[in-house]
Amino acid sequence: MSTPAREHVPSRPTWRCRACGIAWPCSPAKLRLLAEYRGNVPGLMIYLVTLREEAIEQLAVERSAKRRTCRGSTFPHIHRPR
Ligand SMILES: [Zn+2]
Repeated sequence: MSTPAREHVPSRPTWRCRACGIAWPCSPAKLRLLAEYRGNVPGLMIYLVTLREEAIEQLAVERSAKRRTCRGSTFPHIHRPR
């Protein structure tokens, strides 16, 4: 019996691929979406805009929580030069 392959779907609220661990949509996810919505570009656009809005909201909440955690820390906050 084989283990099923992990799907390249977003992990919420981090929006990283469950299979790759990189920012979603990864290349396999993009290819799957293009195949799935072939001939239905408006449907793909609606789907992606919906997901984008969900991701913006969830990532903003997560970043806000991280900032609060950093401010509450007793360690000095170090900024690296870019
Ligand atoms: Zn992936």
